[in-house]
Amino acid sequence: MNLSDSIARNLHQHLVQIADMKTQIDRGPRQVKAAQLQVETAKDTLQKCKDSIKQKKMDADRKQLQLREREAKIHEWEGKMNAAKNNREFQAIKEQIAADSQANSVLSDEILEILEEIDSLQIESKGLEEKLKLIEADKVKTEATISQKLAGLNVDLERVEGSLAVLEKDLPADFVVLYKRLVTNRGEDSMAALDDVSCGGCYTGLPPKILDSLRKEQATPCPSCGRLLYRPER
Ligand SMILES: [Zn+2]
Repeated sequence: MNLSDSIARNLHQHLVQIADMKTQIDRGPRQVKAAQLQVETAKDTLQKCKDSIKQKKMDADRKQLQLREREAKIHEWEGKMNAAKNNREFQAIKEQIAADSQANSVLSDEILEILEEIDSLQIESKGLEEKLKLIEADKVKTEATISQKLAGLNVDLERVEGSLAVLEKDLPADFVVLYKRLVTNRGEDSMAALDDVSCGGCYTGLPPKILDSLRKEQATPCPSCGRLLYRPER
């Protein structure tokens, strides 16, 4: 089975190019998906922040209501204090007012703390909104770039595949069988250039018999990995 080095080289170049383009074409949708996922993640983070603000506002409202109710009660006690029938009753009311005032003081500290938390969450939320806008813009850009790149790659792939088909048409009939079987199973890995006296695919040293048959430009597989060998351009 004769196979000239130049034809073998040309075949392998085509196979490598096709494999490379297919890898790039496969990568496209994954890159788009990754960009979309980033948008989803940013949206989730923003939503969680907004939910937290809403929750804290409800907490603050509830505590403020409680505070006002207790204030009204204190006011009521104060009215009763003046109408106390004796000192014991007066003291009891006074103690009640002191206890409620203390409780309200704790409560208003809590409310203040929650309001401060809401403030910082609102700043965070604004930052997250800005970030989301940037990520969304990036996603749109990525989608456009990838779609343009894919269109170009598909055109190139078609061209190289067409050129390979032309090359394959002229291959010796006995060689085509072996070649097709290898390419179907291994694609670009079906061939390898000689690397000095080793196989350029698996780096195993080759016996003189193989090197000799390569010198005669015969289709020769590597005894170790099975790749079809050819001599590189010198
Ligand atoms: Zn090999």
